[in-house]
Amino acid sequence: MSLIHIEEDKCAKCGRCIVFCPMGLLENKPDGFPQPTKEAYQRCVNCGYCVDICIFDALFHKIRKRNANSKDAALKRYETLLKRGVKKNAK
Ligand code: SF4
Ligand code: SF4
Repeated sequence: MSLIHIEEDKCAKCGRCIVFCPMGLLENKPDGFPQPTKEAYQRCVNCGYCVDICIFDALFHKIRKRNANSKDAALKRYETLLKRGVKKNAK
């Protein structure tokens, strides 16, 4: 299993995981689904933000498992980022 796996049948292509990764380790594929960048395995700090922000439960991380209690806090942080001008659906 790779570090990050996206279940595309669940993914809504919302781009939140791409915007939210503090290390910039997720990117859009041409078809609009996210994928980990080539450096993801080496540079990931295992913060779990990408897992927490996926409200569709489509993103799986090898080390950081889903925690339902983290979702609300993640969404609040995400809204704060948007207010600060971080681009939605960032490439
Ligand atoms: S946050 Fe989840 S639903 Fe949104 S693009 Fe990422 S994997 Fe897909
Ligand atoms: S665990 Fe953190 S650093 Fe690693 S890909 Fe997800 S958001 Fe980025």
